Amino acid sequence: MTIRTHSMKQSHLFTKTRREAPKDEVSKNAQLLIRAGYVHKEMAGVYAYLPLGLRVQNKIKDIVREEMDAIGGEEIIMTSLQRKELWEKTNRWDDETVDVWFKTELKAGGEVGLAWSHEEPIGEMMKNYVSSFRDLPIFVYQFQTKLRNELRAKSGIMRGREFVMKDMYSFCLGEEDHTRFYNKTIDAYLRVYDRLGIGADTFVTFASGGAFTQFSHEFQTIAETGEDVIYINREKKIAINEEVLNEETLTKLGITRVDLEEVKTAEVGNIFNFGTQKAEDLGLFYKNEKGEQVPVWMGSYGIGITRVMGLLAEKFADEKGLVWPEHIAPFRVHLIELGNDNVDVHSEAQELYRELNEAKVEVLWDDRDVRAGEKFADADLIGIPLRVVVSEKTLAAGKFECTERATGHTSHKSISELIGHLTA
Ligand code: ATP
Ligand code: MG
Repeated sequence: MTIRTHSMKQSHLFTKTRREAPKDEVSKNAQLLIRAGYVHKEMAGVYAYLPLGLRVQNKIKDIVREEMDAIGGEEIIMTSLQRKELWEKTNRWDDETVDVWFKTELKAGGEVGLAWSHEEPIGEMMKNYVSSFRDLPIFVYQFQTKLRNELRAKSGIMRGREFVMKDMYSFCLGEEDHTRFYNKTIDAYLRVYDRLGIGADTFVTFASGGAFTQFSHEFQTIAETGEDVIYINREKKIAINEEVLNEETLTKLGITRVDLEEVKTAEVGNIFNFGTQKAEDLGLFYKNEKGEQVPVWMGSYGIGITRVMGLLAEKFADEKGLVWPEHIAPFRVHLIELGNDNVDVHSEAQELYRELNEAKVEVLWDDRDVRAGEKFADADLIGIPLRVVVSEKTLAAGKFECTERATGHTSHKSISELIGHLTA
């Protein structure tokens, strides 16, 4: 269970909103996230996560973690520095084969790689824990920073040179067990995207499988600024990446070219079946019931945590700023206190803050001594789902003014009505 401060005062937040994003920032997600104080741009494709941004990232992780735990995943963290010899075993150390490597040298001598993926190290590590059929299956996952020397980094946090991925790996006895887990993971992924608020726009997509299988599956979400193109059949909820759009694939799936709509998407997840190839390369074998040495059947399953965050930021934003879905927002309520010099207004705001906290509702309390217009503009930019205003006017009326960020819909509620609404 993650322990986090539920609420905070805005005067305590060190970040400030800004009117303009840096001139060299061309992506919509990063422009908004920088202006609202969620991320800091260190350089192209490299972003720091500030208090608001980290809260959002953690909420996405919490949802993913719950779903991975629910299908039997065990959480770990692998290392960022990796051994060259390992990647040589699978022929993936070469820059010709893997074009995103960052590599560096140890002072004591020898080259090391900076983690762009963990498939090889994790497979190698498992040799310590797998020897008999009794040891399998194993499902492990991590949230890890991946370092990739991407040629272009113009999509803000959606294509980072440093980014957070959830990667899970399965180690099974054979194909049957593997397929069962693989399909279970597809369902778990769909639950994740549903909970993130993008379920309706996310398609399980047939994509090229690489060396080991004919297809891999991508999870592609319709997005204006997405870098991929896929063909979807909304009725059948089938999608195909343009890279595998040939007649053979279509026939196999029982569809024709006319059935297909072309859309721009962002790849939010990707899952692979490795068969036994990777285990054979690495030497990851187990003893079966007959006492024979058999290679482990491996699979890998990624979700782009920070890419999803960028996608959500872009997808739900309007001309005033960010609009977070309820379960992802850094806070549930933005409490706006107007007229800080009024003692009654201040104590009313304090009381509401206390009661919301008691009800475990996360609140950002704008207790700053700034103009109302500035507070409202900031609230719109930051994008917390519900804005609750406390002012002389609301005090006189005995009800707070509550405005939904997504719809602009305003209602007036007493403390108990508000808490009832939020905890329903
Ligand atoms: P892409 O095709 O977009 O380059 P990939 O196929 O190389 O991605 P994987 O190695 O399968 O990606 O990684 C799993 C997930 O990590 C992807 O589905 C994507 O959501 C995310 N991801 C990949 N590269 C990046 C990146 N540079 N920045 C942010 N997220 C990324
Ligand atoms: Mg991919």
